[in-house]
Amino acid sequence: MEIKLYNSLSKTIETFKPVDKNLVRMYSCGPTVYNYAHIGNMRAFLFADLLQRVLRVVGNYQVRWVMNITNIDDKTIRDSKLGSNFWLKEMGTQTENPHENLRMLTEFYEKGFLEDISLLGINLKHLYSMPKATEYINQMQELIRKIVDNGFAYVSAGSVYFNVSEWRKGNTYGRLFNLDFDNLKAGTRIDTDQYEREQVNDFVLWKAKKEDEPYWDFDLNGESLPGRPGWHIECSAMEKELLGLPFDIHTGGIDLKFPHHEDEIAQSHSGYGIDPTVFWCHNEFLEVEGRKMAKSFNNFFTLRDLISKGIDPLDVRFAMFSTHYASTYNFTFDGIKGQRKARYRVQEFIYELFEESTGSIHANIDELKNNIFSELANDLHTPKALANLFSFINNYEAKNLSNESKQKLIELFKSLNDIFEIWTLEKKKEENKQIPQDIYELAQQ
Ligand code: AMP
Ligand code: ZN
Repeated sequence: MEIKLYNSLSKTIETFKPVDKNLVRMYSCGPTVYNYAHIGNMRAFLFADLLQRVLRVVGNYQVRWVMNITNIDDKTIRDSKLGSNFWLKEMGTQTENPHENLRMLTEFYEKGFLEDISLLGINLKHLYSMPKATEYINQMQELIRKIVDNGFAYVSAGSVYFNVSEWRKGNTYGRLFNLDFDNLKAGTRIDTDQYEREQVNDFVLWKAKKEDEPYWDFDLNGESLPGRPGWHIECSAMEKELLGLPFDIHTGGIDLKFPHHEDEIAQSHSGYGIDPTVFWCHNEFLEVEGRKMAKSFNNFFTLRDLISKGIDPLDVRFAMFSTHYASTYNFTFDGIKGQRKARYRVQEFIYELFEESTGSIHANIDELKNNIFSELANDLHTPKALANLFSFINNYEAKNLSNESKQKLIELFKSLNDIFEIWTLEKKKEENKQIPQDIYELAQQ
């Protein structure tokens, strides 16, 4: 089925066609592994997962999906430093070596991240690669060299900066986001990875070495510039290396439109002479009481927090499907619990399909499938797709359906599970109602 997607570049819904026949190449900005990801972050990864699954199952494409691991940036370095308050004893003992400390911190949280996304139903086998930034330093340096050679970057005090004013002479800077150029002054530089649109200035590609931080040697046309990459250049280099340019789809949360993705476009285009991707797809925020869930606002829950409060990761996965990815998801515990009920409602219906029964009602399962797939093909409209499913379940009792309809429904749920990965497709297991003797005795005591 033809897939339509909202493209943040054209700001319209477009019909999707891969650059390379039947293969979709997709890059998702992954986690910064300085702490456990919160469920706002998880929304971004679940959105990317949904998109790649819809492309496979509804669009019938092959997908090459890459999600990077940001294991070097301002925050990972901050929290890995000797004496950092964020250091946990589970990470091991800190050393005098900043590289080693960074490695221990980021590997610890990378492992936690992989555990979390697996619990959330992301199948690691669907990922073609999860590149770590520190393994692509050469490619980043190569790209910086190209940008400098093409006249769009310069060295200052041992760091390399992208020259926004120079780039704007013949190119648009602000393709994903309306930018505020009032404060842009040639030669004013910004060194941090994150900054606001009012702070548009020359951004850093390579940061000069600091005393207690990890660094790599960098020979830039004969000049020695020990240091480390800026955050934006990491993605530009890794996506080119692993997917080739232009690839088809780049995903991330809307907060990444600026500066991260805008800077990625400027870097890739000025260095490689080509746009990185054709489609830019962004998910909206998961909010708490009207505010983006964020570590900096201290209004966040990790998946581990929710599990300890009795929430099943699949409740979170299913809850994300209840709202369109481009609308704000308002997180509440009641909302998540309500979604659990909805998930169970479908599950009970599925269990019933596996029971022997002698119903005779024929339902039009082809039409149901077509309606659900059409909604998914229409910019991943999961709430409407699920509404079709619920209205079917409300209209039919599984036990009254003919065997043929039941078999067709089971087939449909198999392909829906390839997308939603949420239901158990088998007969309900008898619960063991007999209390084991030792438990009984413990309860007595
Ligand atoms: P980070 O680890 O901070 O680089 O973020 C990882 C991903 O989570 C990025 O795609 C962000 O845009 C996304 N993200 C961060 N906060 C939220 C939120 N509250 N809701 C949805 N996505 C978010
Ligand atoms: Zn990125």
